[in-house]
Amino acid sequence: MNKQTRDELISRATQAKKNAYAPYSKFRVGAAILTDDGTIFDGSNVENASYGLTICAERNAVFQAVHAKKRKITAVAVTSDEKTFITPCGACRQVIAEFADPDTEIILITVDGKWKVVKFGKIFPAPPALDKLKK
Ligand SMILES: [Zn+2]
Repeated sequence: MNKQTRDELISRATQAKKNAYAPYSKFRVGAAILTDDGTIFDGSNVENASYGLTICAERNAVFQAVHAKKRKITAVAVTSDEKTFITPCGACRQVIAEFADPDTEIILITVDGKWKVVKFGKIFPAPPALDKLKK
C-alpha cells in the first residue's frame, strides 16, 4: 500500500470515530476499509441501550462496503481514544475474514496518531470457512 492510501485510511478512520454513538461505554472507535477497486468505506461504533445490539465500527464499515457490492477487502484501519493499539474484536475478525485474505493489511492507530500494520492472517490465522457453500 502506498503512503497516500495509508494516510487516507488513517484519516478516514480518525474522522469516522467522531461519529461514534457511544453514550454508555464512552469508548469511541472509528474504522475505514479499503476495497480492491480503491474505494474506502468508513464506520463508527453504534451502541444501544440493549447492549448486545451494539455494532462495532469495523462491521459497520464492512457492511456498507458489501451493500455497495464491494466484496474484496484489502485493508482495514481502526482507531479509538486509547493510547495503545486496539485490534478488531473476534466478531469483527470473523466478518472481515469473509471478504479478506491473510495478506489484508490491518492498520492499528492510537489516539496520538501512531500506527502500525499487521497482516490479517497473523491476528486471525484459522478462520472458519464454508467456501464450498459459497455461490
Ligand atoms: Zn468488533
